[in-house]
Amino acid sequence: MTEMSQQEILDTTARCVMQTYARYPIALVRGEGCRVWDAADREYLDFVGGLAVNGLGHAHPTLVRAIREQAGKLIHVSNLYHIGPQAALAHLLVAHSFADKVFFCNSGAEANEAAIKLARKVAKDRGKTDCYEIVTMRRSFHGRTLAAMSATGQEKIHRGFEPIVPGFRYAPFNDLAAAKEAVTATTCAVMVEPVQGEGGVHPADPAFLSALRELCDQRGTLLIFDEVQCGMGRTGKLFAYEHTQTTPDIMTLAKSLAGGVPIGAMLATDRVAESFSPGTHASTFGGNPLACAGGLAVMETLVADGFLQGVQARSRHFETRLRELQARHSSIRELRIRGLMAGLELDVDGAPFVTRCLERGFLINCTMGNVLRFLPPLIVTDAEIDRLVETLNELLP
Ligand SMILES: *Cc1c(COP(=O)(O)O)cnc(C)c1O
Repeated sequence: MTEMSQQEILDTTARCVMQTYARYPIALVRGEGCRVWDAADREYLDFVGGLAVNGLGHAHPTLVRAIREQAGKLIHVSNLYHIGPQAALAHLLVAHSFADKVFFCNSGAEANEAAIKLARKVAKDRGKTDCYEIVTMRRSFHGRTLAAMSATGQEKIHRGFEPIVPGFRYAPFNDLAAAKEAVTATTCAVMVEPVQGEGGVHPADPAFLSALRELCDQRGTLLIFDEVQCGMGRTGKLFAYEHTQTTPDIMTLAKSLAGGVPIGAMLATDRVAESFSPGTHASTFGGNPLACAGGLAVMETLVADGFLQGVQARSRHFETRLRELQARHSSIRELRIRGLMAGLELDVDGAPFVTRCLERGFLINCTMGNVLRFLPPLIVTDAEIDRLVETLNELLP
């Protein structure tokens, strides 16, 4: 294959790829650790991390070796047969979480679709025929497929695709009184991100989550945590719910679960997982050997001695530096940070700063219009954090 120049990649994309993304005018072709290079060989420091996907950074030797070896043995076989790497990854996820069983799929939206279907099925199996509604939070994000989009509490995501899937009701985030009102006899589950990501990095109040747990138990309703973005070590614990006293009945994962190889997972306790009996749900690619070999390499790295402590140390450094930045710049309205998931809410539009950072060789992201969001690889160094913060210090008013 002859390699295209950067301009050829941009032109061909404009001509042949559906224009669902407003892309920056670079094409990234290789990476190492937290650094990436474009097709013109320009270097960038990556604080987007593939949108919380490249948890181990780029070209991590353990991950590269695992998927290389698996690709040479078996990439795919279907779920008609047992799959060793799938069993091993499920075992690790179960051993390190509240869950007893795992269903594998290929993305966050798909993991949430599985969670939505399971919650509805559990209610049916318990004889509650008219119980199908799921209460989700305003400003939430659960994916772009029709039901996951409908679960998402943001009108701008629904616009143009109506009618949305029935059976979702939205409640304000961190508002227990409103949640109590939203949960009725028709509610089969409450679904919440322990840290809202796309919504602008808003952590759930631990007291809100524990009150939701109590509410769900009282009303015989399931509690679902969407940890697609905040899970897998992002907050300094393997799962974000570990910062609280609360465990869900169902949890969804994707993004960095296999460090960039597409994968999704829906975890549940045995009590609810039994409603997914043979023939009720499926995915052709779900849990395939290649993706699970990637997931296994990531999980083994994350749970190894000292790794998460290292993430916590680096996130304390990041927080200290961002607090100093906040003290110096009146344009910063609020800093919200959980581990290596940080949002700087500005009192001005954030997009121009993303462009200026790009020009200076830093990849950052902006969400909700005015929240600069940072999701660096978990292996980011203190020195790399310092370089970013110094650049922001020069750019922000
Ligand atoms: C990204 C995201 C999703 C959707 O994941 P996809 O893999 O893009 O389908 C769902 N929930 C949360 C919290 C996310 O951040």
